Amino acid sequence: MIIGVPKEIKNHEYRVGMIPSSVRELTARNHTVFVQSGAGNGIGFADTDYLAVGAEILPTAAELFAKAEMIVKVKEPQPVECAMLRPGQTLFTYLHLAPDLSQTQALLHSGAICIAYETVTDKQGGLPLLAPMSEVAGRMSIQAGAMALEKSRGGSGILLGGVPGVEPAKVVIIGGGVVGSNAARMAIGLRADVTILDNNIDTLRRLDNEFQGSANLVYSNSENLARHLLTADLVIGGVLVPGATAPKLVTREHIARMKAGSAIVDVAIDQGGCVATSHPTTHQDPTFIVDGVVHYCVANMPGAVARTATVALNNATLPFIIKLAQQGYRQALLTDPHLLHGLNVMAGRLTCQEVATAHQLPY
Ligand code: NAD
Repeated sequence: MIIGVPKEIKNHEYRVGMIPSSVRELTARNHTVFVQSGAGNGIGFADTDYLAVGAEILPTAAELFAKAEMIVKVKEPQPVECAMLRPGQTLFTYLHLAPDLSQTQALLHSGAICIAYETVTDKQGGLPLLAPMSEVAGRMSIQAGAMALEKSRGGSGILLGGVPGVEPAKVVIIGGGVVGSNAARMAIGLRADVTILDNNIDTLRRLDNEFQGSANLVYSNSENLARHLLTADLVIGGVLVPGATAPKLVTREHIARMKAGSAIVDVAIDQGGCVATSHPTTHQDPTFIVDGVVHYCVANMPGAVARTATVALNNATLPFIIKLAQQGYRQALLTDPHLLHGLNVMAGRLTCQEVATAHQLPY
């Protein structure tokens, strides 16, 4: 198969669809991989690194889209990219079509076979191509929160781990899923005093087994939440209700009563946020203060650590890329129900019920 890896064109997007070691896996299987010149430059993968593993470098996206049978990207295609897709071509990337009618229409119009990372499933019912980004955001939330607690950011001036003779910070994590458990690992590693709240008792049991007493595990209800919020130095919002916007578990009243200089990292901001006072921010200007509480609400946290995020994403996408290349999209989709869940648009037809419902389009 001929595979194309274009340079991402969304503002401040440095990730890339395939890293050189992934390209080697494809060229070793006699596939042709075209990489757009400079695609990996922002995260230290030079054109020469791709050439060394057998890729061919093309100067423009137009040439790459014209030649490739399958396009492997990271971000949803921008209008100029949608216009270059053609019938029969496979697109494998994050799409997030439910809130994006114009992209949905453009992909329907293209006639391409569009497989979305975010709806591919696994045997456990999880979302294996979303999990790496939650791992990255969860781990990063603690370093973002640690900085938000510094005086220069408006924080209380508390070091997460304390020092001998000085108490550590209290970190309260709401939601003990992929984001929450990764945040907890980092906070425990820094010797903070960690409490995780979740409303799924099986999740609390799993965390109990993992953390063996090094995190305080609390059932999430409004009374327990209020009690822990009022004594928190750092709050991490990592809740998810699948298919819904995040519940506003931290209210305006909670914020008003929290400690001055405490901080909140609302990781769930990409689903609307679980804090009433949150609004999306950017890596250029990540924090704002409400009632003395520093809020960090960056909706694309992994973008800040684009190299780690790219490698983590590639580790998860590579088996599917190989399958699509070896078998072709028809056979790969027919033989893998988990990959089939990723199919959102097929040759002018919507094949994802949630997206069809969101836009009231035929399915
Ligand atoms: P997950 O499904 O693994 O975990 C979510 C957890 O929230 C579950 O354990 C669930 O039981 C818990 N939960 C649901 N309702 C709750 C409640 N009322 N009280 C306490 N816990 C509750 O999801 P995840 O992968 O950890 O993702 C969490 C959020 O982070 C999602 O909104 C996701 O979109 C977001 N996210 C954001 C970024 C970013 O850059 N900002 C990156 C990755 C993920």
